[in-house]
Amino acid sequence: MSGAPTVGVLALQGDVREHLAALTAQGATAVPVRRPEELAAVDGLVLPGGESTTIAKLAVRFGLMDPLRAAVRAGLPVYGSCAGMVLLADRLLAAPAGQETVGGLDVTVRRNAFGRQVDSFESTVRLGGEAVPAVFIRAPWVEEAGPGVEVLGRVVGGEGDGKIVAVRQGDLLATSFHPELTGDRRVHALFVDIVRDARERRSGAVAGDERRADT
Ligand code: GLN
Repeated sequence: MSGAPTVGVLALQGDVREHLAALTAQGATAVPVRRPEELAAVDGLVLPGGESTTIAKLAVRFGLMDPLRAAVRAGLPVYGSCAGMVLLADRLLAAPAGQETVGGLDVTVRRNAFGRQVDSFESTVRLGGEAVPAVFIRAPWVEEAGPGVEVLGRVVGGEGDGKIVAVRQGDLLATSFHPELTGDRRVHALFVDIVRDARERRSGAVAGDERRADT
């Protein structure tokens, strides 16, 4: 299949505009998602930074929580940044009792992990072999990652030295930091590639089914 992939940004709360711009810069058709019908129309989805408890409550209220869970189970590529990482996590530490998540990512995530006093700071993250500047805002980190989770990035130096801040599990991607707020587009480029590949796999599978149905 050709043409730009359509990538949604969950637009209930948080830094939606910045993700839409970063995705557009990577050649995706970027659209806000607030309703189940809009979710059903995207090839991939970004869960933005913001406040995960608020986003989760709004997702329940807007009737999106179950469709989001179903979409992740069905294999929709999803990238969660900061609060989005919290929302993708299967297990949370330092979260209010009963905080709901979308889940799907086999990690234990600690909310506000860098200390409550540190509202926001810049640091360097080693992403693959490269040093990437990263902005953290009341950020979580990954305390524990399951066997199927690939660690993509760790903090270099400072308080969180060595902490896991970027992970991938199949077509799910999560970062503790906010690449949409820096000029560095590597994470969005990677995610748009993941979405393109997933879409090609799906359309290949559909074409295969049609060929089988023809015979
Ligand atoms: N601390 C926030 C939360 O857990 C995340 C902060 C952010 O997304 N910048 O939801």
